[in-house]
Amino acid sequence: MGEGKTHFEVIVVGAGVAGIYQIKRLVDLGVDATVLESAADLGGTWYWNRYPGCRFDSESYTYGFSFSRELLDEWHWKERFSGQPENLRYLEYVADKFDLRRHMQFDCRVETMRFDEANDLWRVTVSDGRELTCRFVVLAIGLLSAPTMPRLEGIDDFKGRSFHTYYWPHEPVDLTGKRVAVIGTGATGIQLIGEIADKVGDLTVFQRRPNWNAPLNNGPISDAEMADIRSRFDEIFAACALTPGSFLHGPQSKGFYEATREERLALWDRLYDEPGFGIWLGNYREIFMDEAANAEFSRYIADRMRRRVDDPAVAEKLIPKDHGFGVQRLPLETRYLEAYNRENVHLVDISETPLVRATEEGLRTTERDYEFDIIVYATGFDAITGAYDLIDIRGIGGESLAEKWKHAPSTFLGMLVHGFPNLLMPTGPQSASASTNFPRGIENGVAWCTDLLRYIWDRGYTRAEATLEAQERWTGHVIKMYEIMLMRKAKGWFTGYNSNVAGHEEGTVRYFVYNGGTPKFVGIIRDVADQGYREIEFGTAAQSSAGKETAAAAQPR
Ligand code: NAP
Repeated sequence: MGEGKTHFEVIVVGAGVAGIYQIKRLVDLGVDATVLESAADLGGTWYWNRYPGCRFDSESYTYGFSFSRELLDEWHWKERFSGQPENLRYLEYVADKFDLRRHMQFDCRVETMRFDEANDLWRVTVSDGRELTCRFVVLAIGLLSAPTMPRLEGIDDFKGRSFHTYYWPHEPVDLTGKRVAVIGTGATGIQLIGEIADKVGDLTVFQRRPNWNAPLNNGPISDAEMADIRSRFDEIFAACALTPGSFLHGPQSKGFYEATREERLALWDRLYDEPGFGIWLGNYREIFMDEAANAEFSRYIADRMRRRVDDPAVAEKLIPKDHGFGVQRLPLETRYLEAYNRENVHLVDISETPLVRATEEGLRTTERDYEFDIIVYATGFDAITGAYDLIDIRGIGGESLAEKWKHAPSTFLGMLVHGFPNLLMPTGPQSASASTNFPRGIENGVAWCTDLLRYIWDRGYTRAEATLEAQERWTGHVIKMYEIMLMRKAKGWFTGYNSNVAGHEEGTVRYFVYNGGTPKFVGIIRDVADQGYREIEFGTAAQSSAGKETAAAAQPR
């Protein structure tokens, strides 16, 4: 497990999907590497998020790793959009199959990272008190892994059970007959509400802003279907690689205005009833960029939503009025809208009657007090940079990464940061991996970072740092890609909005993700590699003997 060692060539932080694939690649190269994970076990997002209803919005068979034919042949996805327990089992299976656990250390949170300029080493302190050193750090710490709670007075006064969805307890929570509150109606709240409405005694949903949503249309995958999928894996992954979001769903080739109104309606009727993100990502491109096209489509979806909710007043509350369809991340749902037709489900519009405080018994709005047995906070994440901010990362001259990124991140390709040598982020802020079917993006990012490391090792360098000019060019390009998208106006995590995080409230757009799409992104990062990484400065430091030994020991076998 490597607990006794204090030096590694590479430390990977995080044992989620990205960390698992990164350590696999390093182990294959024979590199001395370890994974440090704060949780008690591997799985990342699928380790933590255990709330009822938690599942993929990606087709399961496009979410799994593509790197091993054997793995693809062995694993049977049971549902088109697989649930959290199965997803965690899958990651455990992958780690066990490739014997990766022995390269992972659990229950150790990385607290600080300091770049030692004299020796080209990162000095890493861990929550168990150890100080480790390594030549390179790969941060695989997730994009949605820093949950946020409302800044609500009296939040600790509540005498019942309460938790953020990210920290849903590991042991089963008996909801039978319970009075349950859910705060938040993002992708998480929408999955949870649809799943528990018929299992609780009483469910009260506190909604500040509604979100657009569309049916997931999940279903089982039979043996015969799985056999067919297995025979088409090459084709499936090739298709994902060609779409902007690395999903099976790519935009219509025909333009919105080239199609007649009847053609548009026929397409939308079909997509609404199909499984997955087709209704969002398989739509006309103009939906994302053109106000009029977006408004017409939003009216269509609003109408579909109205048909499913019995009480017209409730339906109106569930339909967003402040932003158009799909300019924030689209939640997919199962029985979500129908939940509001049940006698035991109540919608409280806290844009009209805001939450005032938590009490011993429950919650107080400006209108009245509510009593609950359980309060669930489905209140989202300090997205993209939140997990980075939780580690005190200091680069050249002691510069703080959190401070550098205080107003917005700036990176080269979302994977390197000027001033922070030897720090790699396969799915960092401003990478396309942050805005796609995550594992597809992760595989691209990890492959690129691994190739860069091989380049460095092959040439005996001990230091690699993106130039400031390259970083500014990339960040400028990322900002430009936002300018063409309606998303730039939305209050969601794509633009860094979060009312629970100081400085992330309304008004500041953070250019968090790359919106140019996967094919373009992959083309750019491949060019950088093919042209010998001209945007990166390499060096060999006057090193301590420890450093020299490490560089020699690190040569890939
Ligand atoms: P989210 O989309 O940020 O939604 C948070 C919700 O909580 C919003 O409705 C927000 O209202 C509300 N909220 C936050 N703070 C509040 C406060 N202080 N008082 C009242 N309401 C508050 O977070 P999420 O639902 O956890 O989803 C985050 C992302 O995780 C998703 O976009 C998706 O990328 C990912 N995810 C994926 C899946 C999947 O793959 N199937 C499932 C779940 C989540 P406002 O809108 O008014 O701020």
